[in-house]
Amino acid sequence: MKTQKHWYDFLWIVTPIYLGLGVFRILFAWIGMLFFCLPLLISIFGGGKLYCNRYCDRGQFFSLLGGKLGLSRNKPTPRWMRSKVFRYGFLIFFFVMFFQMLWVTWLVGSGARDLREFVTLLWTFRVPWDWAYQGSVTPWVAQYAFGFYSIMLTSTVIGLVVMLLFKPRSWCVFCPMGTMTQLICRVKAGTPPCQSSCSGDPSSCAQCKGGAPHA
Ligand code: SF4
Repeated sequence: MKTQKHWYDFLWIVTPIYLGLGVFRILFAWIGMLFFCLPLLISIFGGGKLYCNRYCDRGQFFSLLGGKLGLSRNKPTPRWMRSKVFRYGFLIFFFVMFFQMLWVTWLVGSGARDLREFVTLLWTFRVPWDWAYQGSVTPWVAQYAFGFYSIMLTSTVIGLVVMLLFKPRSWCVFCPMGTMTQLICRVKAGTPPCQSSCSGDPSSCAQCKGGAPHA
């Protein structure tokens, strides 16, 4: 029997459009703030994991490529990747990189550093991206866009690699947004975090219920 499609089932299209816009106009990267704020706001105001389970374009994008299009090897996500140590470690790493990006933005805004018109891929490789900025705004606004786009592109690349190697939504297991919304849900519900023995499977772990669609 065919399941009825909803408008939000097509949100996967947002991922390629967002990344594509950033190739031509880096300032569009600011739209990514929505993907950053919405999951947190939905969780804080009682929506639980609704964003992950229904509205996340990126999760849908990986499902489409790895599932429907069969690009995933569909192997189990490694245990270490599902471990608390890795998930929370990655969250901390993500925040360190995020605040470093804010610091660079502040330096540019204060005039202590010139605008850097490149995208940093995997926090390491500087890819020239100067064609995407036409010099129409104050430099710190552009710097933030370059930094934020770097984060979005890097996380998409990592998500694609783990999608190819393991289950389609392996990224969701350690996605910083998923980890944060899960933390918010648990704090609100007063439940402790999963045990280190958790397999990441919602059907076998009471604390995972309602969590991100595990890989
Ligand atoms: S865990 Fe991250 S990528 Fe996965 S559905 Fe949630 S917000 Fe989207």
